Amino acid sequence: DHYLKNIREKNGKLNALLSVYDQEAKEQAHLIDQKIKSGSAGKLAGLVVTIKDVLCYKDHPLQCGSKILDGFQSQFTATAVQRLLDADAIIIGRNNCDEFAMGSSNENSAFSPAVNADGHNRVPGGSSGGSAVAVQADMCAVSLGTDTGGSVRQPASFCGIVGLKPTYSRISRHGLAAYASTFDCIGIFSNNVKDSALVLEVISGEDEYDSTVSQKEVPAYSEHLEAGKRYKIGYLKETIDNEALNSEVKAAFARQIDELRAQGHQVEEISFPLMEYTLSTYYILTTAEASSNLSRYDGVRYGHRTSEASNLEEMYKKSRSEGFGEEVIKRILLGTAVLSASYHDAYYIKAQKARRMIQNELNELLERFDFIIMPTAPTTAFELGSKTENSMEMYLADLFTVQASVAGVPAISIPMGRDRQGMSIGLQILSKAFEEQKLLAFSNYLL
Ligand code: GLN
Repeated sequence: DHYLKNIREKNGKLNALLSVYDQEAKEQAHLIDQKIKSGSAGKLAGLVVTIKDVLCYKDHPLQCGSKILDGFQSQFTATAVQRLLDADAIIIGRNNCDEFAMGSSNENSAFSPAVNADGHNRVPGGSSGGSAVAVQADMCAVSLGTDTGGSVRQPASFCGIVGLKPTYSRISRHGLAAYASTFDCIGIFSNNVKDSALVLEVISGEDEYDSTVSQKEVPAYSEHLEAGKRYKIGYLKETIDNEALNSEVKAAFARQIDELRAQGHQVEEISFPLMEYTLSTYYILTTAEASSNLSRYDGVRYGHRTSEASNLEEMYKKSRSEGFGEEVIKRILLGTAVLSASYHDAYYIKAQKARRMIQNELNELLERFDFIIMPTAPTTAFELGSKTENSMEMYLADLFTVQASVAGVPAISIPMGRDRQGMSIGLQILSKAFEEQKLLAFSNYLL
């Protein structure tokens, strides 16, 4: 009732939820209440959750923030979502997002953007903007988003909450509508680290429907969040010397470093020369994968079909042109170009090699340091509409988050202060692959 009341009062303005399952949520709550009384309730009993509009939930609408999936309903439930339900969480709604998770501000949604609840007409970040705002505005306790290049961490930073992207392959992607399959990760938004840890331990692990998911055992993350020893922490010269970095974010980060040192941690400046290639590597590879993944939306199998075609080819073309938004079309074209015979070696193969080099370089650093830290984003939440005309500026919002995505390592964003206008600043922490336990415990200690 608490969350439904907040949704009723705030969602009209904030647009964080595209569907609200109020009746169903109440029925679920009632059943879970009985289970609690009889002592048979699951680990997440009564935890109210919302899920990004790219995660399948059987018999519920799924549109990926796109007109091309008009009228589509999921025919099965994503593994992560099913595990939430099995643990007695309550799914209360479907979150707004950038179309097919492509964007950094939620302004690419076909359903108008979600709006940052901290006021001042600011974006919530993207692509999982609706999931972030739902937690920020207390419309749910936890939400699921997806993070391909920063889509959980950057909105968490903009909205002043916790956003976790686990190691690639930690959580099954079954039932997650693909954007870039070798990058896509389900991620978790929450108000505190413990909730994220609890949800992570429930939804992670082996799954017969996803052959890429890790077989590694899933620790009980939430039970081991006590502060550890003194750590060795590195921060990248290339992030703090970056001209895109806003001065207030830089100052907050400098204060954070001082604080860590005062707490007895060893903090060192290190260099990551490949930093300048991460964003282009990310955009070449993800657009290539997207152009292939999105070929399934052909007007035949799902959602929207044009009413104006006179032959098959025209039907494909018109359905896709009408259904997809501008950014998605741009990325399909770019991805098709980098995969085409004449550009394949120069762009796609080269970007694959760059990815391997970035991975190796980052992994080497993570052998020497417990954590690498940096601001989650170069700026705080910007004004709605202020970057929509300039893709390059918009892509720069991902400058610091794509690195962990290219390398597949876990990363989290936690709040580290606010700027003079009251907008939140996020601290991003990276650790070695599958070291979520250590990452969560350290984040919990800092928060
Ligand atoms: N903003 C990035 C992009 O547009 C990241 C998106 C994501 O992580 N889904 O691709």
